[in-house]
Amino acid sequence: MKPPLDIRPGDIVQMRKPHPCGNDVWKVVRIGAEIGIRCVKCERKVLLSRVEFERRMKRFVQRGAADANADS
Ligand SMILES: [Zn+2]
Repeated sequence: MKPPLDIRPGDIVQMRKPHPCGNDVWKVVRIGAEIGIRCVKCERKVLLSRVEFERRMKRFVQRGAADANADS
């Protein structure tokens, strides 16, 4: 089993399949039961279940700020 992905608000991610607008880079805007991501080009917002998000995500482009004292 894979460990759960460490998803943070503000993360910029590249998805495997481009959005109809041609962009494949999204910003994580909400973390909860579902992951909310916003297309950085057309600003459309999409909610995905965590499983779906992990399946569709290709890579992190840029990491959001970790809460408290992680990183740095
Ligand atoms: Zn778009």
